Amino acid sequence: MHEMSLAESIRGIVEEAREKSPFGRVRTVVLALGELAAVEPDSLRFCFDAVMKGGPAEGAELRIEAVPGEGRCPACASRVALHALYEPCPACGAYGVEVTGGNRMQVLELEVE
Ligand SMILES: [Zn+2]
Repeated sequence: MHEMSLAESIRGIVEEAREKSPFGRVRTVVLALGELAAVEPDSLRFCFDAVMKGGPAEGAELRIEAVPGEGRCPACASRVALHALYEPCPACGAYGVEVTGGNRMQVLELEVE
């Protein structure tokens, strides 16, 4: 499952941060989640809770900030808002819009104590 491997990569980021500057536990993980990242937030929360068990981020709150999808149309050169992958260009109707943003997941911040 996609969400499970993302949760594991978040755990890796937490462990790495803890090696650099030791902390007791993680209170909140703030995540930027692209609209086009094909991640189901509820499913990610479920996986997050499961993966963090027994570690410094057990019971941490997962705060998800949605990042809107963005693309650039090669046909009309418009910069467009994309709400799904492989959608036609909303300006000219052409297919093949290149995704330029909102397709990734990124840990923005770890609130630790
Ligand atoms: Zn276009």
